[in-house]
Amino acid sequence: SLSPEGRGVRTTCAYCGVGCGIVATVTGDRQVAIAGDPEHPANRGRLCSKGTHLGETVGLEGRLLAPMIGRRRASWDKALDLVARRFRETIARHGPNSVAFYVSGQLLTEDYYVANKLMKGFIGSANIDTNSRLCMSSAVAGHSRAFGEDVVPASYDDLDAAELIVLVGSNTAWCHPIVYQRIRSACEAGAKLVVIDPRRTETAEEADLHLAIRPGSDVALMNGLLHWCREAGVVDAAYLAAHVSVPEDFWDRTGEGSDLWSVARTCDVAPADLRRFFEMFAATPRTVTMFSQGVNQALAGTDQVNAILNVHLATGRIGKPGAAPFSITGQPNAMGGREVGGLASTLAAHRDFAEANRAAVQRFWASPTIAEKPGLKAVDLFRELGNGRIKALWVMATNPAVSMPDAGAVRAALAACPFVVVSDVVAETDTSVHAQVRLPAAAWGEKDGTVTNSDRTISRQRALFPLPGEAKPDWWIVKEVARRMGWGTAFAYDRPAEIWREHCRLSTYAPDGQRLFALPGQAAKGNADYEAMAPFRWGGTPFADGRYPTPDGRARLAPVVQKAVAPPLKDWPLTLNTGRYRDQWHTMTRTGLSPKLARHREEPLVEVHGDDAAREGLVDGGLARVCTPQGESLYRVRVSEAQRPGEIFVPIHWTDRTASGGRTGLLPRPLVDPVSGQPGFKASPAAIAAV
Ligand code: SF4
Repeated sequence: SLSPEGRGVRTTCAYCGVGCGIVATVTGDRQVAIAGDPEHPANRGRLCSKGTHLGETVGLEGRLLAPMIGRRRASWDKALDLVARRFRETIARHGPNSVAFYVSGQLLTEDYYVANKLMKGFIGSANIDTNSRLCMSSAVAGHSRAFGEDVVPASYDDLDAAELIVLVGSNTAWCHPIVYQRIRSACEAGAKLVVIDPRRTETAEEADLHLAIRPGSDVALMNGLLHWCREAGVVDAAYLAAHVSVPEDFWDRTGEGSDLWSVARTCDVAPADLRRFFEMFAATPRTVTMFSQGVNQALAGTDQVNAILNVHLATGRIGKPGAAPFSITGQPNAMGGREVGGLASTLAAHRDFAEANRAAVQRFWASPTIAEKPGLKAVDLFRELGNGRIKALWVMATNPAVSMPDAGAVRAALAACPFVVVSDVVAETDTSVHAQVRLPAAAWGEKDGTVTNSDRTISRQRALFPLPGEAKPDWWIVKEVARRMGWGTAFAYDRPAEIWREHCRLSTYAPDGQRLFALPGQAAKGNADYEAMAPFRWGGTPFADGRYPTPDGRARLAPVVQKAVAPPLKDWPLTLNTGRYRDQWHTMTRTGLSPKLARHREEPLVEVHGDDAAREGLVDGGLARVCTPQGESLYRVRVSEAQRPGEIFVPIHWTDRTASGGRTGLLPRPLVDPVSGQPGFKASPAAIAAV
């Protein structure tokens, strides 16, 4: 775990799904020097601004350092006894589905595993969902639909080998900067870059071709590409015959409106640009299509994912170096959460709720029960909280009062819930002000465990400092509540290494010979091996042999079709898009501590095309109120030709605690993709007015 010089500790960045390795050298009391780990395969020594300035965020300012019951400090025993008693009583009175956990892609895999085990195997409900639902659950659903298991069939090495990289709905230069550096290196070596994004982002500025498509027209674009490839003879008939199930009416259904002119009209792009993209794609077998929140955070997000996967399956561009569809995750451990079943829609170790899987997991856990069916996904969970059907909620390491769509309703639901527990590193968040019990959790630099990044590389996060005050790791807090609920034997963990080994054993338990997520060998490793664990990627090159983890071993093409793109509403003439800034993370509880990071964007801006600004009387640098049917908030105006006319963009980071405006969570509708349950953040009807 020590760097070669023996001074720094090898750990992993706290922020995004790129999962960069860090060498952290403690230089004083709560002081640490940060450098990129030259041996980590994700970043090879490089860090972006957020990772570089992690050292500015490890102070104790604003930390929760003792358990609190209401406004009073309490002992751990008293707080944990209260949490266990209230959950037990609620379950006894109203049943297991009357309680819920809402957790986070910031948790380490070991934390996630223990919380999932408690809820699904011991409480007997699947009402545990995660903020990763807001980030990439459409990719999970799309992978499962096409491959039979949620597997990302790509690695960062594929970017080096690609001759064409297509970025869909991803401002990679800002949101995954180190991956973007790798893409730039590939381009310098001759690869071409196409960016598909309604906005002319910093990423799009540098692309060989930018298609500023109409929001929500991705299926039409990909179906058009698919049929262009078919006409061009690029569809791999031999691969389809050997490895892919093609529904009988697939080509007819996906073919409607797929000619170049119709697609150009639907997507609102120039036919010549569209043709250029199609020709580039058809001519380049080594193509990686990387997609992110612009694809996932849509009301047809899963269909959009499958439209991309269809093209790669049909052209046989999968399971080969430099040829793959690549979902890149937002959070540092969204992938680890997927592996342990941290989503309400999966059980554990990439298993679903099929009877045989339920029986196997229950046998492995020796648990008294097992969740019968998927639980409430995030938006439904908070709706049921508001309806009074969820009567006790535990929020871990996330801030749904800011980040959920229709956040005003989420706040009201939290305020009305009879019992809310929040475990967090921050003393007061917009969520924790509604908690009856607040539990102090260990932060980055204090806790030990593992994370899985976007290309399935598992890395260790390691403690640099002693636990401050009375803070405890999340896995410890959960196991202590489980013990007090009567399940001490099943949760008798003393260290994260024990949880890791159990998780690895479960991944290979009763293997059916097809499951790709399996960590053989890891389960036998001792504590010293865990301490010294070097980053490793599981799964090799998935699907290299053309076999998929479906009952018949074949992948499946999904006959997805473009839904009509609704015209603007009279009172809501604009389309609101949301996203991230380069130097901030989520609701700024950590990055907000760094003065250097604040310099990049000091306040929340609404970006507006010049035509819309002129019509609404907005001036660059003035203030404007952005309104939707859900709520409204104030922003500084930036007139920008990077926006398409009729579309505006706002950042997600600011909260009531950081600014008087920029409360973006209040604006989107609580509408979700029907397959994945992921909210459609990317296209809300909106209006704007000068202030
Ligand atoms: Fe951290 Fe992501 Fe930046 Fe890497 S790219 S340093 S993981 S924020």
